[in-house]
Amino acid sequence: MTLAVDTPYLDTALPVVDRVADLLGRMTVEEKVGQMLQLDARDDVEQQVVHQHVGSILHASPARLALAHELVARTRLRIPLLVAEDCIHGHSFFEGATIFPTQLGMAASWDAELLERVARVTAVEVAATGIHWTFSPVLCIARDLRWGRVDETFGEDPFLIGELASAMVRGYQGDGLADPTAILATAKHFAGYSETQGGRDASEADISPRKLRSWFLPPFERVTKEGCRTFMLGYQTTDGVPITVNEWLLNDVLRGEWGYTGTLITDWDNVGRMVWEQRVQPDYAHASAAAVRAGNDMVMTTPGFYQGALDAIAQGLLAESDLDRAVARILTLKFELGLFEDPRLPDHARIGEVVASAQHTALNLEAARRSLVLLRNDGTLPLCPGTRRIAVVGPLADDAQTQLGDWAGSSGQADWLPNGHPREMITTVLDGLRAQAPDGCVIEHAVGAGILTLAEDPAGAFFPDGQPRPQVVVPTPPDEALIAEAVAAAERADVVVAVVGDRVELVGEGRSTATLDLIGGQIALLDALVATGTPVVVVLLASKPLVLPPSAARAAALVWAANPGMQGGRAIAELLRGVIEPTGRLPISFARHVGQQPTYYNQIRGQHGDRYADLTQSPAHVFGEGLSYTTVEYSDLRIVDEHPDTEVRAVVTVRNTGSRPAREVVQVYVRDQVASVSWADRELKAYRTVDLAPGAEATVELTLPVADCTIVDAAGRRIVEPGAFDLLVGPSSRDDDLLSATFTVR
Ligand code: BGC
Repeated sequence: MTLAVDTPYLDTALPVVDRVADLLGRMTVEEKVGQMLQLDARDDVEQQVVHQHVGSILHASPARLALAHELVARTRLRIPLLVAEDCIHGHSFFEGATIFPTQLGMAASWDAELLERVARVTAVEVAATGIHWTFSPVLCIARDLRWGRVDETFGEDPFLIGELASAMVRGYQGDGLADPTAILATAKHFAGYSETQGGRDASEADISPRKLRSWFLPPFERVTKEGCRTFMLGYQTTDGVPITVNEWLLNDVLRGEWGYTGTLITDWDNVGRMVWEQRVQPDYAHASAAAVRAGNDMVMTTPGFYQGALDAIAQGLLAESDLDRAVARILTLKFELGLFEDPRLPDHARIGEVVASAQHTALNLEAARRSLVLLRNDGTLPLCPGTRRIAVVGPLADDAQTQLGDWAGSSGQADWLPNGHPREMITTVLDGLRAQAPDGCVIEHAVGAGILTLAEDPAGAFFPDGQPRPQVVVPTPPDEALIAEAVAAAERADVVVAVVGDRVELVGEGRSTATLDLIGGQIALLDALVATGTPVVVVLLASKPLVLPPSAARAAALVWAANPGMQGGRAIAELLRGVIEPTGRLPISFARHVGQQPTYYNQIRGQHGDRYADLTQSPAHVFGEGLSYTTVEYSDLRIVDEHPDTEVRAVVTVRNTGSRPAREVVQVYVRDQVASVSWADRELKAYRTVDLAPGAEATVELTLPVADCTIVDAAGRRIVEPGAFDLLVGPSSRDDDLLSATFTVR
C-alpha cells in the first residue's frame, strides 16, 4: 500500500489515465524515447532493455523472453515489456503450437465465425507463452498475384476482408484486455501496401485518395469499429510520401474521421528506410521527428530512432512533450493488460494444457477442411470405394514444412526453429491417404520432380540495413529418372493424386515472383502423368493462385489447398475419399496467364473491348467459385420491395439437385446501373451459407441495407446515388452464374 501511495502508477484503484499521467511524469526523456521503441530480441536484449529502455520486443525465443523479463528488474521504473510476435495463422514460431491454414486458405471458408474461433484459440495458445500482441490480421487487398504476400491476405474483396478481419480481431482480443487470454490484434498494413508495381514488394503504391477510399480503406474502417487496438503502417510510399508520415491518412482519416484511439506501430525499420532506402529524410533526427509528428506511437526495429529522437529534441525539431501522446498510448495498453500487476510471463503448466490441445487440433482440422476448394471435377472425385491403387506423386505430397506455409516454423523469420514444427504433428497428403486407405488399397509414392534450389543473390548476402537478402531461386530442371518412376507408378494405379505447387522460397517479403508458373520439374511431371491416361487429380498446394500448364486442363480434377496447415493432409485425403464435402469458395481469382494481371473481379467498367488480341481476359477461376460433389440450382430471385427505403429485401430459391449434401455460399452482388463516376461492375455486399440435403430446397432471405449500395464520388465521398441497381445472386462472381433483379433507390 505504501508503495502505491508513493507511486500512484502502481495503484490499481486509480483510473488508468491517472496512472499513465503519474508514470509519464516520472520518466526521463531517454525513457520516453525508449518506450516508443520495439526492437528485435534476437539482437542484444541487455542493451535494448537496460540501456535503451525499450518498451517492446519482438521475435523473442522462449529463452530470450525469459532473459528480457529478468532485465526489466534492472531498470529504474520497471516498466513491463510488451512482447509482440507474428502469430498470423496460429502461434507461428512456438514449437509444437497449432498451425492453421494460412489466412488466404482460411478465407476460402467464407466463415467469419470459424475464423473468430481460430483467432480465439490462437490467442489462448499465444497468451500462455508470454506474448501479448500479434501482428495479425492482414487487411491488404490482393491485387497483382505476383506479389509475395498474397498468401497473408484474405483475398481480393473488401467486404469479405472486412467480415473475416473483424472476426479475427474479436477472437484475438477476447473479452477485453483484462481477460488473461486476450492478446492485442493488429490491422496491417495500413493502407495500400498491396498496390504494388508489377508485384514488387513495397514499391511505390500509385494510389489516389479516392482509390484508397473506394477499396483499400473500408476493411480498416470496419475493424476500427471492432475495437482493433493497434494498426501497423505499410512500407510503401504514395504520391511521394511514406505512409508512416502520411498526415492525411493518419490524422485526417484514421484519427479524425474514424475517431481511432488505438496505437500505431510502424513496420520494420520504416523510420530508418526514410533515410537509407527511400531517401526522403537527411538523417535519423529528421526521420524520427517526422515519424513522431505524424502520430506514430511505436517504432519497430529502428535502433537509430533512440539517438535520432534525442538529437531531434536537442536540435529543436521536436519538443519532449511531443513524445507524451505516444508514450501515454503505449503505457495505457500496458495498464489495461494489467502488466504492472502481472507481466503475463510464460505459464508452463498452462502451455502444457492448451498448446496443441486436442480441442485446438480438432478446430484446426475443421479449418483445413473448410479451406479446400474444388475447382474442377469430371466425376473422378470422390474416389470410388473400389479404388485399389493410388499413386501419390509430386514434390509436395510429403513435404510437411511447406504445407504450413510462410510465417510458421522454419519459414525464415525466426531462428530458433531451424527444423520447423515437429514432423509428427503434421499430416501430409501422403500421410493422410495412407492413414485413410481402405483395406487392400495400395498407396504408392513417387516424388516425380524437384522444385528449386537456392543460390546467393549476386548482389550480396545482406541488404544495406544488415538484414539478410533472400537467396535467389534456381528452378530444378526436369529429372527423367524421377519422371519415369512417377509414370510407372501412375500406369500401375487406378488414380493419380499429383501434389504440386510452390515452396516457401517463392513466398513472402521480398519474394514476389515474375511468373505464376509451377516451378522446376513440375510441369514436365504433370505433362507425363496426364499422358499416361490414368485419371489425375491435381492437388494444388500453392500459397497463392498459380497458372497451371495446358496438361492440367486434361486432369480429372483440381483441388486448391493453399497452405493448409498441420491437418491439411488429413483434410485433403478426406475430401478425395468423399468423407467430407468440398465447401470452399475462392476468395481470389486465378489467372490463366501471368500477363492477365490484375485479375480481381471487381474491376472498373470501361475499356476498349473485353479481351487481349492473343488471349481472353477471363480468369481461369473467378472470385467466389468452388464446386460441390453435388449440384445446386438457383431460381426465382425476387425483390420484395422494388423501391426500398432502408433495406433491400429479396428471396431466392436454392435446390440441391444432386445426391450429396451441399453447403452452398449464396453470394449477393450489387451493380449500380449508372453512377456519376466510373465504378466496379459488381461488388459483393452480402452472402449467406445454406446447408442443403440431397434433393432439398430452401428459400433464402437476403437483406441488404440501402446504405451499403455506395460508390465513392469524384470528390472522394462515399455516397448512395439514387437510381436503378441490379441485385445479383448466385454461386460465384461470374456474370453467367448470377440471377438478376432490379430495384430503385429514390
Ligand atoms: C512485415 C510485418 C511483420 C513485421 C514483424 C515486417 O517485415 O511486413 O508484416 O509484422 O515484419 O515481423
